[in-house]
Amino acid sequence: MSIYEELGVRTIINAKGPSTRLSGGVLDDDVARAMVEASRHCVDIAELQAAAGRVIAEITGSEAGYVTSGAAAGLLLGAAACVTGLDPGKMNRLPDTTGMKDEIVMVRSQRNFYDHAVRGAGVRIMEVGLPDRFAGAGVRDAEGWEIDQAIGERTAAVFYVASASARPPLAEVVKIARARGVPVLVDAAGQLPPADNLRRFVALGADLVAFSGGKAIGGPQASGFLAGRRDLIAAAALQHLDLDFPWELWCPPSDLIDKSLLPGAPHHGIGRPCKVGKEEIVGLVVALRRFAAADPEERRGRWLALARALVAELDGIPGTSVRLLADRPWREIPQVELALEPEARGTALALMQELEAGSPPVFADPARLDEQVVVLGTSCLRESDPPLIAARIRDFLGGRRGSLPVSVRS
Ligand SMILES: *Cc1c(COP(=O)(O)O)cnc(C)c1O
Repeated sequence: MSIYEELGVRTIINAKGPSTRLSGGVLDDDVARAMVEASRHCVDIAELQAAAGRVIAEITGSEAGYVTSGAAAGLLLGAAACVTGLDPGKMNRLPDTTGMKDEIVMVRSQRNFYDHAVRGAGVRIMEVGLPDRFAGAGVRDAEGWEIDQAIGERTAAVFYVASASARPPLAEVVKIARARGVPVLVDAAGQLPPADNLRRFVALGADLVAFSGGKAIGGPQASGFLAGRRDLIAAAALQHLDLDFPWELWCPPSDLIDKSLLPGAPHHGIGRPCKVGKEEIVGLVVALRRFAAADPEERRGRWLALARALVAELDGIPGTSVRLLADRPWREIPQVELALEPEARGTALALMQELEAGSPPVFADPARLDEQVVVLGTSCLRESDPPLIAARIRDFLGGRRGSLPVSVRS
């Protein structure tokens, strides 16, 4: 009996992707094995973090790196690092930022649910720009001069959420922030693949970049990392590591934390609640190395085959059209779009409710329900899933398995 059976928990078919609410993805055997191996011994956690940091630095081209319990934890630690620098007195006072730089500038159109992590450091977000959805003019978002004007004496950082549509371009934001002596913290949690993005934001001059380990990298679900400037990584580490030791006995690896720069050690910091275990650190390192070394075409080929199988299985359901979404360069993970016409035997919402309630539960992507579209992601599917998903959809919408060959429109 599996542990899930014993606990009475259903395993699902994950046709959305590595979402936190769906428990992330499925670990590769190499990663899972490394985590088990890590669990068999104890180590000095700072020494392990320093070693992981060297791997992260090499892979991202940054000065330093640090493993976090997710990208969101990286944002909390990164924001805190930008506020306190290496001052242990300030670290001890967070999230009370009285008398400190307590503002973080952010483009309004980049606001999202995850920026709560930044606010958790005790800062206020100063929004700039007006992404006008009312008039539909659509040509202006935030502009560089608006960011420049929002930076003042209390600005701890500019926070930038990377995406293909983020405006202004990161290079311009970095230039403005640098001229004002303010660091740029980047949320790149959702920007992999392509693997090139592991280096892109650091190369563009971002001071700290947060990545998720549990998404495309294929690391443990509760992992992520920061890559960036050595002093900021040290400030993040100081607010995350367990610091319950006599000062004289404390010998942190000097490439992670240069003890000689500190008047003393801070107390457990604002990041202590998001601790990272040795198993996650090791799992993240192994997954990151695998992800960076993999052939992108091969990786995409597997997802494409799954998407094509889905399209073939779903073809010909009355009142629907099915399409492979693999056309855009940023859509490196192919998806399948099932569009329900008015004559279909049900709505997209009803279909998703049925899929989630059935056995096994099938979770698709609800992002386009308003358009009567159910999106099926491929990155967490197993080879055996497409026929199972299609059978469940046919149970609801009717129609027999078509005889379409596995070559399809894209
Ligand atoms: C997923 C995501 C996060 C959070 O990542 P975790 O690793 O789950 O903490 C933050 N920001 C964005 C834009 C994301 O897509």
